[in-house]
Amino acid sequence: MRLLRTIKEMKKVVRELKSQGKIIGFVPTMGYLHEGHLGLVRESIRKADSTVVSIFVNPTQFDPREDFKEYPRDLKRDSEILEKEGVDFLFTPDADEIYSDGYKTYVEVHDLQDRLCGRTRTGHFRGVCTMVLKLFNIVLPDVSFFGQKDAQQAIILKRMVKDLDLDVKIEILPIKREKDGLALSSRNTCLNPEERKAALSLSKSLIEARMKIEKGERDSEKIIQRMRKIIGEEPLAELDYIEIIEMNELNPITRVEKEALIALAVFIGKVRLIDNIIVRTKE
Ligand code: AMP
Repeated sequence: MRLLRTIKEMKKVVRELKSQGKIIGFVPTMGYLHEGHLGLVRESIRKADSTVVSIFVNPTQFDPREDFKEYPRDLKRDSEILEKEGVDFLFTPDADEIYSDGYKTYVEVHDLQDRLCGRTRTGHFRGVCTMVLKLFNIVLPDVSFFGQKDAQQAIILKRMVKDLDLDVKIEILPIKREKDGLALSSRNTCLNPEERKAALSLSKSLIEARMKIEKGERDSEKIIQRMRKIIGEEPLAELDYIEIIEMNELNPITRVEKEALIALAVFIGKVRLIDNIIVRTKE
């Protein structure tokens, strides 16, 4: 695996790969890798000729109150893991390399960026889209892999790719979970043992929602109420939002019919966790 730190080096590699007609698979991450990331990496290795993984904790997607400084980082561990997986290139630029002095250009996906996580995390998706577009311009991937874990991010990035006519295929892979149901996340390592237990309330509330729907419940408000109760019973959990929405415009729906996304964000102590499920009813 080759480690690349500058845009210039990365672009040179990309030019060579393109001239050889190679299909480039790309997995953007913020590092501190877990099996969720590695699922994306393995899919890229399976489908593409060359796989590029990026690790960059992107400052513009954290607002000043958030955990940018505390976000877990371990490049040595991550590069060993990626090497073992058979990744070809690891691109890990510094913030100064990506955001040069006097940086002024940002990408926004209107409306979608303001819903769900966008309400609490002001500017978050503007940061994500700007970063991902920059990475796409540097790496020129044919296909890029993202996780359903960040459901809103996946929908927004697909919209950006369509709106800006980018030549990249976006593939979304299912959420990887711990055996007890907790969605894998780099932030899980910031939870103490008590918080780790409390964090199960997210997946528990989603399982309960799915069960209610399977039993015939269609009223979103009633499903949300039940979920709220489960989160409310956990003293260490503080709810940010629970929403049941359709998957195009992310508008709330009052009745769960055909396909719906149930998404929530919960603070467990200082750590903000997200989770979601897609439900499909038969009628
Ligand atoms: P991050 O490093 O948190 O920015 O995540 C990088 C990519 O991994 C994103 O596309 C995430 O959606 C994806 N990802 C993170 N956690 C999971 C998970 N538990 N299952 C599947 N994909 C994940």
